Amino acid sequence: MAKILCVLYEDPITGHPQSYPRDEIPNLKHYPDGMALPTPKHIDFKPGHLLGSVSGELGLRKFLEGQGHTLIVTSDKDGPNSVFEKELVDADVVISQPFWPAYLTAERLAKAKNLKLAITAGIGSDHVDLQGAINKGMTVAEVTYCNSISVAEHVVMAILALVHDYIPSYQWVIKGGWNIADCISRAYDLEGMTVGSVAAGRIGLGVLKRLKPFDVKLHYTERHRLPESVEKELNLTYHSDVESMLPLCDVITVNCPLYPQTEHLFNDALISKMKRGSYLVNTARGKICERDAIVRALESGQLAGYAGDVWFPQPAPKDHPWRTMPHHGMTPHVSGTTLSAQARYAAGVREILECWLESRPIRNEYLIVDKGKLAGMGAHSYTAGNATGGSEEALKFKKG
Ligand code: NDP
Repeated sequence: MAKILCVLYEDPITGHPQSYPRDEIPNLKHYPDGMALPTPKHIDFKPGHLLGSVSGELGLRKFLEGQGHTLIVTSDKDGPNSVFEKELVDADVVISQPFWPAYLTAERLAKAKNLKLAITAGIGSDHVDLQGAINKGMTVAEVTYCNSISVAEHVVMAILALVHDYIPSYQWVIKGGWNIADCISRAYDLEGMTVGSVAAGRIGLGVLKRLKPFDVKLHYTERHRLPESVEKELNLTYHSDVESMLPLCDVITVNCPLYPQTEHLFNDALISKMKRGSYLVNTARGKICERDAIVRALESGQLAGYAGDVWFPQPAPKDHPWRTMPHHGMTPHVSGTTLSAQARYAAGVREILECWLESRPIRNEYLIVDKGKLAGMGAHSYTAGNATGGSEEALKFKKG
């Protein structure tokens, strides 16, 4: 019998919801490129309910305990005295979400003697030391596509919020003001601007498609260029490197994975190649941007705004400078965990577990690491290596 250790974010401060604003979520038939939605044999949850926090348990308890397996669910993930670190010692499977990542560092992998499978309930397995997982011969899998469109929608929202300077206007209303001049002194239209995407995978392409009707000029950079038909349909300009794209753009959206080569990609030197007053939206991973370089660029005016929902480490310490830097539109890591997305990734986790427990192959498109090497999606979009360095700082959030 297997021991499954599941790390989820904390319940709402008001407790697990007893009711929801909507009675249903749309019933999608497949993902935009035709890829099949998760196909578990059964689910024990209602789509649209909160599954990603501790009491939601990703809807897994009945299924796993019904088969005699042990399920431990905790949000206590950081530091040597955390429930996660204690339970990890004999766990067979770890499930974790990028929103509240249980960092699987080399030290932790060494302690986890029985660990065979790490499942990401979402997309982005950079919280796992992938080189360590390769060396250990374990499997890493994620629920590819489950929340890519959720994030693409968030990116469009963040771009509009920054360019129109929406957040300060909202705050003036709360403060009881009618300060139109204050509200609009940094507000512009997106129409006619040039938007560049770093990567045009599921999210990046989703963003480009959604932005086309805004009458903007669209640019992108990618390791594998998109088909000519797609470039024509969206009127895209391709760049073989990010450096040649940046000086032409008013808005940049970052949509590539985090791995050693993209860690701190946006540093002082790269940001200096952007137009003065550019907007930067990063919903990919916090570490792709160098923390203090972003603060400096906002303070100097090199960037007119920065938004996104990804930080490093997570949860971000209370004194993380991105909480207080000027002209930001940051949220906690929420874009990929809407109630709509949760239904898909909970079903995807169940599908992966069903396969693993029945010794059936996990879908190739879910695999990141398998049989001692990068596999499936992992082989396409990642490089081997470790991007978890510094993650122990997440403990600072717990300590206040
Ligand atoms: P995809 O795998 O579909 O897309 C990633 C794309 O990035 C691939 O097309 C890959 O290109 C490209 N890429 C890799 N390295 C580079 C590079 N150096 N420069 C330009 N392009 C590059 O994944 P998704 O679009 O679904 O997700 C992308 C990332 O977004 C995830 O890895 C994750 O970090 C983040 N994410 C964030 C979420 C959130 O809640 N905020 C939720 C989901 C994902 P190629 O195929 O050519 O190798």
